[in-house]
Amino acid sequence: MARYIGPVCKLCRREKEKLFLKGERCIGDKCAMERRPYAPGEHGKGFSKPSDYSYQLREKQKAKRIYGVLEKQFRRYYDIGAKQKGITGENILRILETRLDNVIYRLGFAISRSEARQFVKHGHFAVNDRRVDIPSFGVKQGDIIGLTEKGSKINKIKENLKSASKAEVPSWLNVDSSTSVGKVLNLPIRDQIDISIKEELIVELYSK
Ligand code: SF4
Repeated sequence: MARYIGPVCKLCRREKEKLFLKGERCIGDKCAMERRPYAPGEHGKGFSKPSDYSYQLREKQKAKRIYGVLEKQFRRYYDIGAKQKGITGENILRILETRLDNVIYRLGFAISRSEARQFVKHGHFAVNDRRVDIPSFGVKQGDIIGLTEKGSKINKIKENLKSASKAEVPSWLNVDSSTSVGKVLNLPIRDQIDISIKEELIVELYSK
């Protein structure tokens, strides 16, 4: 599946906000946003009054970049979210949050979503005892996420889990670090999704 392979820190600088795309580097003083907290390019430090459209566009780009999703798939998530019952913006966020790569990251098995995506693609994780190597795989309530035999040999995954803070695991998920097994307790509602996205702006943009 296609993914963005350009410079990652530029994405944060473009959104003028830390998107935490690189794991540990994001919390240290090597973070590009600490040193150059302005948009890249010749006019990056300039000021121009943003239009409504640019607010909506930036919010959509931010969400895509945080979850590592390209335009075609993101648009598909909007279409699915719009057809579901409830609030479209919340539905889109729920679809993004329940992607397997995001769940692996949220449970603490990986230090970033891109690392989680790599672990999944390499076949290190199983859902309900069946190996899943599709990062966009959507988990459901009650699903059990564990390591495959191959995954249980990867020290980095266990180290990540050991050093992850339990407090950061969202309340819709649960993880047992002694057995390296996670569980989806329920599908998340908006209050359980800790992300600074104004999803209603994304809906406004796509519904024009
Ligand atoms: Fe963004 Fe992390 Fe790079 Fe900082 S280090 S600019 S938070 S990706």
